[in-house]
Amino acid sequence: MFIYQTIEGAKMFPKFARIALHMAIEQTLILIKPDGAFRKLTGLTIDRLDATGLEMVGAKMICVTERLAREHYSSLSDKPFFEGLIKYIRGDYHGIKDNRILALVYRGENAIKAVRAIAGATNPEQAAPGTIRGSFGRITTTGQFENVIHASSDPTDAAKEVALWFKKDEIIP
Ligand code: UDP
Ligand code: MG
Repeated sequence: MFIYQTIEGAKMFPKFARIALHMAIEQTLILIKPDGAFRKLTGLTIDRLDATGLEMVGAKMICVTERLAREHYSSLSDKPFFEGLIKYIRGDYHGIKDNRILALVYRGENAIKAVRAIAGATNPEQAAPGTIRGSFGRITTTGQFENVIHASSDPTDAAKEVALWFKKDEIIP
């Protein structure tokens, strides 16, 4: 009987593990990029984020120092578009005063995927119509993707990014 229960338990485990994964409560970092702020898309973006049913647990205007920008995008430092990306995220192309940006943390079930879904694909030309990037993104004549928002792409990046942009006590527990 005991063995039967154990084997059954083992057989059942992957299913429970899948359910647990499916129900993961996650936090994700969102940045309204300088083109989003410049084009007055902050309110629209927050509306769409709220419509996901996720909870806003962190929000602040923050100065994107050169150091913060390079750290945030450190995994892309060998890409040809990296230096342009640093200028873009610091607001140099949009005349953003003091390099300010709105940083948000949303929390909820599968928050990372849910926010990526409403954001759309990285390349605005490939982003589905109706997504934020598909509706409002553009590629500049120099090839820079201006795609309105940043959204963490996976749990590892999300944890790293939330910790980089927010102090612990700036996030609702
Ligand atoms: N980017 C770009 N050209 C590219 C790829 C990316 O200008 O060919 C910019 C774009 O603004 C993008 C950011 O670099 O959002 C970060 O790239 P990543 O691959 O992490 O895309 P994301 O996670 O933002 O969708
Ligand atoms: Mg990314």
